[in-house]
Amino acid sequence: METLAQYDKKAFIGLLKKRGIKDKAVLDAMSTVPREEFVGIDLQEFAYDDTPLPIGEGQTISQPYIVALMTEALQLTAGSRVLEVGTGSGYAAAILSRIAQEVYTIERHQPLVHQAASRLKDLHYDNVQVICGDGSLGWPEQAPFDAIIVAAGGPEAPRSLIEQLSIGGRLVIPTGPSVREQGLLRITRISKEQIEIEELARVRFVPLIGEEGWQNAEAEIKPRLRRAPVESPAAASELIEKAAIHIPSIDSVDLASLLDRIGDSQIVLLGEASHGTAEFYDMRARITKELIQKRGFNFVAVEADWPDAAQIDHFVRDTRVEPTEEATFSRFPTWMWANTQVLEFVKWLRHYNESFSSPDEAVGFYGLDLYSLYSSISSVINYLDDIDADAAAIARRRYGCLTPWQSDPATYGAMALGDTHKDCEPEVVAMLNALMQKRIDYAKQDGRRFLDAMSNARLVKNAEQYYRIMYQGSISSWNLRDTHMFETLESLMTFHGSKARAVVWEHNSHIGDASATDMGLRGEINVGFLCRQKYQEEVYSIGFGTHCGTVAAASDWGADMEVKTVRPSHQDSYERLCHDSGLNAFLLPLRYAKQDIVKALTPSRLERAIGVIYRPETELLSHYFKASLPGQFDEYIWFDETRAVDALGPEVAKGVPETFPFGL
Ligand code: SAM
Repeated sequence: METLAQYDKKAFIGLLKKRGIKDKAVLDAMSTVPREEFVGIDLQEFAYDDTPLPIGEGQTISQPYIVALMTEALQLTAGSRVLEVGTGSGYAAAILSRIAQEVYTIERHQPLVHQAASRLKDLHYDNVQVICGDGSLGWPEQAPFDAIIVAAGGPEAPRSLIEQLSIGGRLVIPTGPSVREQGLLRITRISKEQIEIEELARVRFVPLIGEEGWQNAEAEIKPRLRRAPVESPAAASELIEKAAIHIPSIDSVDLASLLDRIGDSQIVLLGEASHGTAEFYDMRARITKELIQKRGFNFVAVEADWPDAAQIDHFVRDTRVEPTEEATFSRFPTWMWANTQVLEFVKWLRHYNESFSSPDEAVGFYGLDLYSLYSSISSVINYLDDIDADAAAIARRRYGCLTPWQSDPATYGAMALGDTHKDCEPEVVAMLNALMQKRIDYAKQDGRRFLDAMSNARLVKNAEQYYRIMYQGSISSWNLRDTHMFETLESLMTFHGSKARAVVWEHNSHIGDASATDMGLRGEINVGFLCRQKYQEEVYSIGFGTHCGTVAAASDWGADMEVKTVRPSHQDSYERLCHDSGLNAFLLPLRYAKQDIVKALTPSRLERAIGVIYRPETELLSHYFKASLPGQFDEYIWFDETRAVDALGPEVAKGVPETFPFGL
């Protein structure tokens, strides 16, 4: 009888053959080396799936098909001497060792070197030598090599590696200006001075970090901000003009090709370059409606607090139940969500949801942010009051730790730094754990209400930490906030099960991949970065931009909203390139763009971000940062001139029932 592993392996080799691997020596090696020995115990059941798997240090064991393809391309013989850059788990080195005479492999992460070396020794792959170092420089002491394989993607093929090839030797390496996708090249050294280059496939590898790879030492999260010579701006604007898809008007633009590019993505991230521009909201609403109607997207998650969005969720889904009269979006910055553009979308969603037989199946609306410490506490206690009075009493005691700072949570952070008061972390963590432990009991009674309580309890736990670390520097609090938003999104994906499809509305600075911006250089991560890490090709992020017009914003935190004039974009910015294209409004595909435009837009430039505060007088300092647009977004939407959102003021809301749930 066959064991499961043997059975899987047969299918595995069959698959490799089907995908075009022909070299018998490669197929034999792939069937002999036990891939399960090169991954953690918890991942062994996936060892013969044709997929990369995590191996620690943020790295992966490569997809078996790619290992086979690259090995075949090396054209090894029994006498070959091979260099591998990027040992990782040691799996590919083991494969190479079954075909070649000697294998030299270099890895930059010491823990992976240790692990791989001891695995290879235990499995008696004795013709492999492993060292720790920067493989982008090769291994000159052991050169020349008949073949060199690089298991990480660099901007271009390192000169040192080409020089360490023997004449006739082959270098197989993924390269390209983006770490999202590279061309897999085979470079053959024909003579001392001459090489021949072939592109074998489009692939996606972790970055090659080193002196002749991506420069930045922390490039696992920041490889894309490449300081390269700036292309001629006029040429870049012309390329934009050629590649742009015209938007005649938000209502009439045909989005069929956008939906094709989005494909089967599970998550679509829709950005905005300010929190107060009408066109950004209207266009996001238009795209979201299509995704809901035509692609079955089943929830919208926005950069708002959970309890506020929960009121909207109630309004759009539970139309047969009377809504509560609590005010929503009543804290600064009210206009960010309480505006006519959002109201129109929410009304549409309520109407659309009437077609579902049960509110549980209808399209949901959730908040991802974490500023509602105290209303979230009330929500957890109210929930427990209804279903478990004993647990509610405990919750009151635990959360009581935070109540002295109710009116100003930021003072809690200052207090917790001192010696006189203890912080409340153990209490809020205990509350979340208590809910988790009763997950099955509670969720049985009402899954959606349990999700609400859990999300609020998670928010309280993370907000407690957020206010505490706010005083320790902005990077850690930014990272905590975005990690919280990502965790909340993750829990919603889980809640919605295998059919989960999310549209996320957040500022560009949250949804554009931080690793392609100055933020990444400072060590900041964001929702866009975390989504790409987890969902890879299954997340599609769309940034937005504008040249000039008006915007709703305040001059200081907590100040009144004003309609401010947006200054024309800076001459060294992406916005100026778009403006100079001469087009009023367009979609600019980046993920599926031609190489010429990606190349022109990749060198970093200024990009503008207006939040709820806009200070035109210090615009360059306060609102511009550097980014590499094609690394940051999969697509960019442009409106040359834009206008401020129409905020729902109290006078509008009063006595106008259809503006519920924006009671101001
Ligand atoms: N061949 C590996 C296997 O099958 O397990 C997979 C390797 S993983 C896709 C790429 C590896 O390259 C990572 O472990 C990463 O740390 C390593 N790496 C990146 N830049 C490097 C450099 N300059 N020198 C050596 N290793 C590097």
